[in-house]
Amino acid sequence: RLAFEDVHHCYGDLPTLRGVSLTAEPGEVLCLLGPSGSGKTTLLRIAAGIEPLGRGRLLLNDREIAGPSVNLPPERRGIGLMFQDFALFPHLTILDNVRFGLTALSKADARREALAALDRVGMIHYADNFPHALSGGEQQRVALARALAPRPAVLLMDEPFSGLDSRLKDSVRAETLAILREARATAIVVTHDAEEAMRMGDRIALLRDGRLEQVGTGEDLYHRPVNLFAAGFFSEIN
Ligand code: ATP
Repeated sequence: RLAFEDVHHCYGDLPTLRGVSLTAEPGEVLCLLGPSGSGKTTLLRIAAGIEPLGRGRLLLNDREIAGPSVNLPPERRGIGLMFQDFALFPHLTILDNVRFGLTALSKADARREALAALDRVGMIHYADNFPHALSGGEQQRVALARALAPRPAVLLMDEPFSGLDSRLKDSVRAETLAILREARATAIVVTHDAEEAMRMGDRIALLRDGRLEQVGTGEDLYHRPVNLFAAGFFSEIN
């Protein structure tokens, strides 16, 4: 369970987050939805520990990981991060790509865990291949295996499907969701696409100008938007 408590943040004089309180519950996929510049990526970067938070606190399973007097470095948070376009290392085999996130384990354990992670996403037969031999959808599954292999308490995904062409997007999204469910992973997924948020999110947090406008299920936001901004965001979905 990852809790943001009254999180504030500025880039110089520019306020990017103005008091965000939000929780990702165990096993849920929480979508952060909002227009460009609303602060979604900044919130993820703060959770990952690659951007310091201004005011507020961050708790992981009730333990403070960032706040006025604590700031755990990224590698000690147990939080995984997956960026746009999945960026597998082109010069490493699929197995070595997945092993890369498991450096804390012995060599034999890392190999076993990496193979198990590849098996869970149906990619074990590609272990000795290089990324260029895989389709976009297959690379995405490997990237997900790599992100989930260290069993992060929370997986952060920033616009995970934006690099895929539109024909692939639907199937990769469905596959990704199935894999997250199977792993019982807790995930925070950033998107600016309301339809994507509706399809993926157990809940959706709608951001505007660094503030939360509304948090709820897709059903809540679609049928009971709290204001015109929220209504406008969902008006183009059928
Ligand atoms: P997008 O969908 O475009 O990525 P976002 O909702 O993720 O948008 P953020 O990337 O969190 O928004 O940015 C919030 C605000 O902070 C924007 O106004 C952006 O221009 C600004 N910003 C982001 N990164 C920096 C930076 N490194 N230095 C200064 N300002 C930044």
